[in-house]
Amino acid sequence: MARYTGPVCRLCRRERTKLYLKGERCFSLKCPVSENSDRQTRAFPPGMHGRDRQRQGSEYLTQLREKQKARRTYGLLEKQFRNLYEEASRRPGITGTNLLQFLELRLDNVAYRAGWGASRAQARQLVRHGHVSVNAKRVTIPSYRVRPGDIVTLKPATRENFNVKRNLDTLDRSVPGWLETGDGGFAVTVRVVPQREQIDESIREQLIVELYSK
Ligand code: SF4
Repeated sequence: MARYTGPVCRLCRRERTKLYLKGERCFSLKCPVSENSDRQTRAFPPGMHGRDRQRQGSEYLTQLREKQKARRTYGLLEKQFRNLYEEASRRPGITGTNLLQFLELRLDNVAYRAGWGASRAQARQLVRHGHVSVNAKRVTIPSYRVRPGDIVTLKPATRENFNVKRNLDTLDRSVPGWLETGDGGFAVTVRVVPQREQIDESIREQLIVELYSK
């Protein structure tokens, strides 16, 4: 499975916003995009001329940046993201909302929303390494799409994992309303397909639709 393996803070700097790709560090003063960073604030795009470059206000650029922001937030490569968009556009309903729902219903995202992983990348690793089950069956595919009624659980041995325990104890992240926790936080049930207002990502999905439908 192909995935981006480069420095992730660079991606936030490119989007000039926090994408929360590193878990704990994102809430600390070490985050280079944070205004209160204890390091030299680097909230400008990466690259030799990132600091000097003025953003051109073209419509295309705005749409492109929004798409990249969404894609990077959920950790997808361009082809996966595009395929998901194509599927969303074929479904009845609002394409942008369909797209966000598909992204939210990915198994790695559910593991992240459950609070087992500090970041989506960490949650994805839990899935890849076989620590997560859906309806009592081990699933190792991060893009697996859960459905209402599915029960997602963490393997019993993994519940003692130091990182998982620490994430559950220390991360101040509430489980969204479309999921229901149980078994001491080690299981989540998908109640419904999330509605747009239940997805707390500041993504303007309409811009992504405009970009792809050109
Ligand atoms: Fe982004 Fe987190 Fe790095 Fe800050 S620490 S730039 S939010 S990945």
